[in-house]
Amino acid sequence: MKNKATDNLQDLQYFGEYGGVNPSISDSSTYTFLSAKKMFDTFEGNTEGCYLYTRHSSPSNLYLGEALAALEGTETANVTASGMGAITAVTLQLCDAGDHIVSSRTIYGGTYAFMKNFLKKFNISTSFVDITNLEVVEKAITPRTKMIYCEAVSNPLLEIADIKALSELAKKHGIPLVVDNTFSPLSISPAKLGADVVIHSLTKFINGSSDCVAGVVCGTNDFCLALKDVHSGAGMLLGSTLDSLRAASILKNMRTLHIRIKKHSENTQYLAESFEKDGLRVVYPGLKSHKGHEKLKSFMNHEFGFGGLMTIDMGSLDKANALMELMQERKLGYLAVSLGFYKTLFSAPGTSTSSEIPLEEQKQMGLSDGLVRFSIGLDNDIERTYNIMRECMVELNILEPKTAMV
Ligand code: PLP
Repeated sequence: MKNKATDNLQDLQYFGEYGGVNPSISDSSTYTFLSAKKMFDTFEGNTEGCYLYTRHSSPSNLYLGEALAALEGTETANVTASGMGAITAVTLQLCDAGDHIVSSRTIYGGTYAFMKNFLKKFNISTSFVDITNLEVVEKAITPRTKMIYCEAVSNPLLEIADIKALSELAKKHGIPLVVDNTFSPLSISPAKLGADVVIHSLTKFINGSSDCVAGVVCGTNDFCLALKDVHSGAGMLLGSTLDSLRAASILKNMRTLHIRIKKHSENTQYLAESFEKDGLRVVYPGLKSHKGHEKLKSFMNHEFGFGGLMTIDMGSLDKANALMELMQERKLGYLAVSLGFYKTLFSAPGTSTSSEIPLEEQKQMGLSDGLVRFSIGLDNDIERTYNIMRECMVELNILEPKTAMV
């Protein structure tokens, strides 16, 4: 029988300190030793199963890491205090001063700003390329390239990265492929397609309750241990440590991830198809009109659908803003950044989550200022949601009223 994406996750079973069905939370920043020698060995990384100090590791963080490694099918995983904590640690672990990165040009604005601006301090440069054009990606590689970086489904344009082909290219040049899978947990399994490192902002779908910020790096034992190395590990030394209480609550929320992702996908597919039929410019990987639709179909985990994000171009920023305000008033969701919540979240990326990208570059990559990004919620009656959304659009002259059938 073929092992499905969720099987390893489902098979995880925890026993708390007193036999509880949830693991006990390790509410300590530091750990005692009965012998000084053991403390020294633990510091040097020579003892398995001993805890020293929570910035290095803690039982709660390891439990969550174990679940995330099972989710992505990697040997292990290190949790971090934010998605950016994972991205910055991985990048600085892989790149030395003077090195070079080839990155997709459509990525989260914070990641873009980190690579484009912050890494200048270390003389690390980045070529931002159209990740769907493999020829362009290969041409951008230099002898100093230390990482190929992309998002499996990109923020906010929802471009699909051909992870298999990119990983073959990366292997040919001996460069690790790092994939941010924040937009598509369960739907896409990048490590199984050849990615070397998989990153998530747990803040989004995986936690799913918009009550905390967290991240993860999923990879090999060697890479994750190197990140934690007390002498040279970017994870350990940059200090992006997730609090144990939060790790425990994220682990509990993860147990409904498969159910939530299916519902997010089902609702988004319905709205995307309906608004496309209405004549709006909808981008959703689940639509036949999406450039990456066929490619994604060839490697996705079908039972989880095409994900919970879609964009609609409202034609102008004024229209986009008016619509978002009206939708919030009608209780359809929140005018807020982020994604993966039970209510729908909407924002105009050009003036929010991608505002770090200069206007000229936004234009080049096809990010128009009337674009609204929707993270569709878990609404029970999505047809009702569609009707209310449609009414809002009619009120703002974005859509014509439906003519009555005679
Ligand atoms: N990756 C993607 C695709 C994102 O959308 C975000 C945040 O919006 C991040 C990474 C950063 O995650 P965090 O806000 O948890 O640091």
